[in-house]
Amino acid sequence: MNKKRKARYITTFISFILFPVILNFLSPYVSVAAAMSGIVSGSVIVFIALFVSGFFFGRGFCSYVCPWSAPSDLLRMVNDKRVDRKKLSIIRYSIYGVWLLVLVSGFILAGGIKGVDPLYLTETGISVDEPGKYITYYFVIVLLFITTVWVGRRGACQTLCWMSPFMVLGMLLGDKVKFLRWKVHAQKEQCIQCNQCNQVCPMSIDVVGELQSGTIDSYDCILCHQCVEACPRSVLSIQRKKRI
Ligand code: SF4
Ligand code: SF4
Ligand code: SF4
Repeated sequence: MNKKRKARYITTFISFILFPVILNFLSPYVSVAAAMSGIVSGSVIVFIALFVSGFFFGRGFCSYVCPWSAPSDLLRMVNDKRVDRKKLSIIRYSIYGVWLLVLVSGFILAGGIKGVDPLYLTETGISVDEPGKYITYYFVIVLLFITTVWVGRRGACQTLCWMSPFMVLGMLLGDKVKFLRWKVHAQKEQCIQCNQCNQVCPMSIDVVGELQSGTIDSYDCILCHQCVEACPRSVLSIQRKKRI
């Protein structure tokens, strides 16, 4: 196992262990509840940070930080089916669109932004700080678990995730202003079409198809490095540069 993968496993495992602590800071519910009172909660601040992180680091958060990353990787042992990303993205962006509308409406109904409270509904700084809150925590875990096992590779990421669209928006802005993006680059003439990269890609990206342009441009690429490691011809590498 190379250093990058080891680092990824360690950081995402720690993040998952800390999930009961940080849950509210990633919560779509807490952000809406606060918005109804005109309060910018910790989760909204994190979502803005995810947008900025998307601009600079693409979907790196998904590989190195997100608490659901480690379980997603492990659950491939249960269901490793490649998924239809296009179809599932319709579900994901529909859920995101409705939620964003509710969030913005909350602020409008509250008469605008009245304050910032990073610890909204998290006064102790710990999200799950009393037995009753475990119900919410386990509900989230079970929902993500069932969706991933049912749908296939990173099923919850592909269907339910309300955080990835913020990173994608950051990436879109980065592309618009021509800020160089971290991407998988390919020396396509070295490729022997063995399909190893497609077999390992956790995001079900058609790496072989995309590499024909010299880069994997998909906004679903989480820079996990797995295709790079799997390639027997060292065709692939993750770099931040212009198209080859
Ligand atoms: S897509 Fe969402 S749930 Fe999946 S790793 Fe990225 S941020 Fe986490
Ligand atoms: S294309 Fe490569 S780096 Fe991107 S998600 Fe797939 S395996 Fe990971
Ligand atoms: S693993 Fe490497 S050689 Fe095989 S198809 Fe992918 S890029 Fe080509």
